[in-house]
Amino acid sequence: MIVDIQPLPHYFSSEHEDFRAALRDFVAREITPNVNDWDEAGTFPRELYGRIAKLGVLGIGYDEAYGGTPADIFYHLITSEELARSGGGGVAASLASHTIGLPPVASHGPEALKKRVIPPVLSGEKIAALAVTEPGGGSDVASLKTTAIRDGDHYVVNGEKVFITSGMRADFITVAVRTDPAHKGAGGVSALLVDGDSPGLTRTALKKMGWWASDTAHLRFENVRVPVTNLLGEENAGFKVFMNNFNAERLGMSASACAYAEVCLNEAIEWARERRTFGQPLVDRQVIRHKLVDMAMRINAARGQVYELAWRVQHDLGDPAQLVARTCMAKILSTQAMQFCADQAVQILGGMGFMRGTRSERIYREVKVMMIGGGSEEIMKDLAARQLGL
Ligand SMILES: Cc1cc2nc3c(=O)[nH]c(=O)nc-3n(C[C@H](O)[C@H](O)[C@H](O)COP(=O)(O)OP(=O)(O)OC[C@H]3O[C@@H](n4cnc5c(N)ncnc54)[C@H](O)[C@@H]3O)c2cc1C
Repeated sequence: MIVDIQPLPHYFSSEHEDFRAALRDFVAREITPNVNDWDEAGTFPRELYGRIAKLGVLGIGYDEAYGGTPADIFYHLITSEELARSGGGGVAASLASHTIGLPPVASHGPEALKKRVIPPVLSGEKIAALAVTEPGGGSDVASLKTTAIRDGDHYVVNGEKVFITSGMRADFITVAVRTDPAHKGAGGVSALLVDGDSPGLTRTALKKMGWWASDTAHLRFENVRVPVTNLLGEENAGFKVFMNNFNAERLGMSASACAYAEVCLNEAIEWARERRTFGQPLVDRQVIRHKLVDMAMRINAARGQVYELAWRVQHDLGDPAQLVARTCMAKILSTQAMQFCADQAVQILGGMGFMRGTRSERIYREVKVMMIGGGSEEIMKDLAARQLGL
């Protein structure tokens, strides 16, 4: 193991490390051995939500009143890192879909809605998802077209959302809608919680390059009636709600990307030690050793950025615009590290790296969604430039 992720006491306390150890053990027992089968099946057992919830993983960061455990940002990073350890992005993405679907409910939902929605999601009984992206575009969130028009004490929702993680199974979907059709930009956007069993909501499963075990859906809303009490925050003030949500998602994705990169590195090291060519183990070849060091170097650099940024966010250190810019840069740096490591690992594994069942083969396919989802690299650079006043 040449990447040192041993506890760094100034970031992780012994309580953090106890949580990490319990989750690592769970992932090793309950997820890693099944990742290939679940990917091939295109799904995983729904009961897994309930089992992981028992460790307190789903409730991290939520109020005890709703069944959660108040926790700092480093618990979120540990969750992202340890779920990635199985090397199966589909399971991890689905298990974590509430981390993007639920925060707008917790921060902006009315009390009665919070009491109804949050506890069953944190106990793993129900599933939450976030639906922002539309067929017409995901990067330009302010231009979204799905409408929610007020009709008495309901909104009537019409439109489509695509590429929604957990979209097939979700019981609760936080949807970005336009409540003011006269306002074409960010000012007309609101956040609305739609119940999964609402009449008029239909869902289609999508086939993907990777994340096969996660269900990704195309959602269609045809005159779906949603009570006005499901509005999250103020009408026409939803854009900020989604933007804040994105910052947390991007930091979590950055931590995951470093962990996936490390999975590739470890698989490449194991292989290079075992595989002999021309009478010697691969690991004795300088060109292979250099590749492994290049991988470790990028992981350490990216992870260092992620931890330092998390520390700054946790302790409110730094100008908010600078923190947003750093979040964008951390996502780019860490997903590029993941891409580099997946590529190098597949090369070191040779033909075996092209075969289904190796971790590096899967991660090689799954890195693109990490570079596109939650804000693509190009959008991250644009946003960082704006925050830096360029
Ligand atoms: C497996 C998967 C799961 C997902 N899960 C969810 C989910 O749960 N919820 C959800 O809401 N969304 C989800 N998404 C959607 C994801 O967030 C979007 O795909 C992403 O934001 C990009 O939007 P887009 O695909 O519409 O691409 P577009 O916005 O059409 O962009 C296409 C390309 O053009 C580039 N581009 C766009 N604008 C510019 C510009 N101004 N300058 C330069 N380049 C530009 C982009 O970087 C990208 O490379 C998921 C996507 C995938 C693949």
